[in-house]
Amino acid sequence: MLRFPSPPRHNAAEQLRGEVREFLSSAIATRTPLQRAESWNGFDRDFSKALGARGWLGMTWPKQYGGHERSAFERYVVVEETLAAGAPVSAHWIAERQSGPTLLKFGTEQQREEILPRIAAGDCVFCIGMSEPDSGSDLAATRTRAERVESGWRVTGTKLWTTNAHKADYMILFCRTSGTPADRHKGTSQLLIDMRGTEGMTVRPVLDLAGQHHFNEVHFNDAFVPETALIGTEGAGWNQVMSELAFERSGPERFLSSIQLLLELIEALRGSDSELAQITIGRLTAHLLTLRQLSRGVAALLEAREDASTHAAIVKDLGATFEQDLPEIARSLIDAEPDRQSTRDLLAVLAYTMMSAPSFSLRGGTREILRGIIARGLGVR
Ligand SMILES: Cc1cc2nc3c(=O)[nH]c(=O)nc-3n(C[C@H](O)[C@H](O)[C@H](O)COP(=O)(O)OP(=O)(O)OC[C@H]3O[C@@H](n4cnc5c(N)ncnc54)[C@H](O)[C@@H]3O)c2cc1C
Repeated sequence: MLRFPSPPRHNAAEQLRGEVREFLSSAIATRTPLQRAESWNGFDRDFSKALGARGWLGMTWPKQYGGHERSAFERYVVVEETLAAGAPVSAHWIAERQSGPTLLKFGTEQQREEILPRIAAGDCVFCIGMSEPDSGSDLAATRTRAERVESGWRVTGTKLWTTNAHKADYMILFCRTSGTPADRHKGTSQLLIDMRGTEGMTVRPVLDLAGQHHFNEVHFNDAFVPETALIGTEGAGWNQVMSELAFERSGPERFLSSIQLLLELIEALRGSDSELAQITIGRLTAHLLTLRQLSRGVAALLEAREDASTHAAIVKDLGATFEQDLPEIARSLIDAEPDRQSTRDLLAVLAYTMMSAPSFSLRGGTREILRGIIARGLGVR
């Protein structure tokens, strides 16, 4: 049976919470509620560097790579507090959560030494080159191809939905280095792409539902990538990428995306004598606390270096449902229309969250795929 361990009381982590809150109260004091709602998309290199300077990025990594050898719970506190406060995390987010741990686990010594300290300093932006026009969820059908040439590879293919490719220093590219898409998991690899100095690579913007530019299409047209770009083992890309996705699915980011809306809603309903409003806020709060407890259980598993992939998929699926339900619940409780331009914070935040919510069950693995993983983890598939 699947077990979510209770997280132990972690004094160092709880002490850290106060320090992080104090830092955030001045570092992001001027952010409006709408900007806070956009936390995931907020791109601010100076903020990321300030977090890095505090020692709050790459916290669990070895000191020799710029890390701080702190616990998964301490990292959890920093992530939780920055997201709950609506801090702009986009400039360090992908690198710190996902790409850094991948390099730590599979990268060459040179890659680790050159890149990990920069990520821990909040000074290195990464993007993820997994999805393609005809293979998003079905990553094994990847068609982007890297052919071996003298002293490196020639890469050809197209990546899609690549968040921050236009701002990134590096991409971790998932591609095929041998065989054909029919070989599925075999013959895939990961390459470290220099986003500034790779010739034959073009980045084109893709606007999202709200008209904002976060996504991109990245074309590789016989782009040359040096030998040293290989991450881990050639042909072992599938297992490496699955390990990377477990990092992506396990944190408090999986139920805090709509938190600003919940805060605005509580504020708007303050003093209301509506029984429905009181019951709804009570239920939402209980739901949030339960998700948090499950998510901290994942942190406990990570701390014990146990496999948490099924647990992480469960938290992500339940969390995305909670985050996605919030805008409609808010609408049913207040008599007002969402309006991004509104001077009423609740209405602007509601409009933004409504536009973003559909993506919560897509990014980081679609709902159907997660449920397949959960079914397999439970032995029922
Ligand atoms: C905000 C956001 C940021 C993103 N950032 C990145 C990024 O930085 N890098 C990146 O590589 N990608 C990124 N993505 C892409 C994301 O991972 C894709 O949306 C995802 O891979 C889905 O791909 P697709 O659009 O091709 O949909 P499809 O794979 O075509 O899926 C369409 C629908 O079919 C379902 N489906 C597909 N296959 C199966 C199956 N075998 N069984 C059951 N149902 C199935 C899916 O669950 C989904 O509901 C991002 C997405 C979002 C929303």
